[in-house]
Amino acid sequence: MQELTHYIGGAHVKGISGRFADVFNPATGEVQAKVPLANADEMAKAVAIAAKAQPAWAAVNPQRRARIMMAFVGLLNRDMDKLAEALSREHGKTLPDAKGDVIRGLEVVEYCIGAPQMLKGEFTDSAGPGIDMYSMKQPLGVTAGITPFNFPAMIPMWMFAPAIVCGNAFILKPSERDPSVPLMLAELMEEAGLPKGILQVVNGDKEAVDAILYDDTIQSVGFVGSTPIAEYIYGTGCAQGKRVQCFGGAKNHMIIMPDADMDQAADALVGAGYGAAGERCMAISVAVPVGDDTADRLLEKLVPKVEALKVGPYTSGDDVDYGPVVTAAAKENIGRLVQSGIDQGAKLVVDGRNFNLQGYEDGFFVGAHLFDNVTKDMDIYKTEIFGPVLSTIRAQSYEEAIGLAMDHEYGNGTAIFTRDGDTARDFAARINIGMVGINVPIPVPLAYHTFGGWKKSMFGDLNQHGPDAFKFYTRTKTITSRWPSGIKEGGEFSIPVME
Ligand code: NAD
Repeated sequence: MQELTHYIGGAHVKGISGRFADVFNPATGEVQAKVPLANADEMAKAVAIAAKAQPAWAAVNPQRRARIMMAFVGLLNRDMDKLAEALSREHGKTLPDAKGDVIRGLEVVEYCIGAPQMLKGEFTDSAGPGIDMYSMKQPLGVTAGITPFNFPAMIPMWMFAPAIVCGNAFILKPSERDPSVPLMLAELMEEAGLPKGILQVVNGDKEAVDAILYDDTIQSVGFVGSTPIAEYIYGTGCAQGKRVQCFGGAKNHMIIMPDADMDQAADALVGAGYGAAGERCMAISVAVPVGDDTADRLLEKLVPKVEALKVGPYTSGDDVDYGPVVTAAAKENIGRLVQSGIDQGAKLVVDGRNFNLQGYEDGFFVGAHLFDNVTKDMDIYKTEIFGPVLSTIRAQSYEEAIGLAMDHEYGNGTAIFTRDGDTARDFAARINIGMVGINVPIPVPLAYHTFGGWKKSMFGDLNQHGPDAFKFYTRTKTITSRWPSGIKEGGEFSIPVME
């Protein structure tokens, strides 16, 4: 049994709390490693090392910091296969999808190579007689991030790359379900030239998270995960005076208008609903066809595609559409919600309940499920299932469809499929959801735009990556400067104004 470590002060460090969590191979159900769960002392040690290392790192000029990001990109590409294999082994997703996880993180690292440009301040020459005014963007100091299991490469990189290139030290508390890739990323950052102590990985659960939240040195906390924990971390972190951004759960609707290309819509739904076993915060979990005729035409195309989905372990290579879910508990939860859908009157048109994969009976595989005739009051509609379960809710008009998406408590992503520009434009303008796709089912913005939901999917002011990340990880200082030769008029007792 492999015992994983923390990565503190540039070295792999064994856990001393005596508490561990099991790390499974979701394809076989076996425990393949145990990960240490840090206590407050272990977190404090990492914070002290970070605080000591950070001033010298902040003093390195932005171009040199950017070059480390450049070298890191090269190392990610060099180790792509190794990273993807480690990721699939702990998470369960297919190898091509695991590479996508690494690459969508890498793209944000590439964006961070532009730090010298992004960190430039503003300057006003002669704001007053002999007076210049300028601003600086300075790092916060020690920053921290808490990440979910479903993107163990991408989301840590979305946080630590901008934090570090801005001159901060960063402490990562990854998901205890799949901690190996985050540890590998920290090693690669140091191989790229990052000084020790600037990126550290402290594994753990609530105890480690609370140690972050109540630490006086840590200036900011980034979180991605489920909404109840996002709310807890946002409330607690803000009350401690920290800068906090928290990204939560989702229930993403895709509206299919009568004029949509039904083949395109069905292909989009099968990928966006079932890819990564539905364990994506941008997965489509609700299909909203407008009109019964549209619903019938859509399901006629969709049902055979869902029935034909290939489910299996990542070791089967490209021959698999999606893998197992992350834990036995996740599988049980999905089964319970599917049963509630049946009990509450939804029609299960593709039944994945008896799915069984020969040779992998102990793996956490879940067959594909498709519901029709779902209604607003059902638990499968209200709850984020985070599994391969797609619900169809039939709307009788465009207004009813957009109303459903707008009334739902989550607001991460949404999509509309239509050939009508007016409808698409109206949808994009009115919808109260952060990321919108027009004939694009999973509208995850690229690295140089920003990522973030609305409503219960996001708590805070600034999104992830893009220009917002440079705002989140810096503080603005504005300097008003006059050389002594200008001070000749004695004291001034009223506020200076421009006359
Ligand atoms: P989770 O909330 O269970 O865990 C996320 C992190 O919080 C982990 O590091 C975990 O150790 C920690 N944590 C768990 N319980 C805690 C507690 N009681 N106190 C303090 N910390 C705690 O989420 P998950 O299951 O790892 O990830 C899936 C969820 O993440 C889904 O809801 C999904 O929608 C969401 N997600 C959102 C986004 C987004 O950008 N909005 C992206 C990816 C995932």
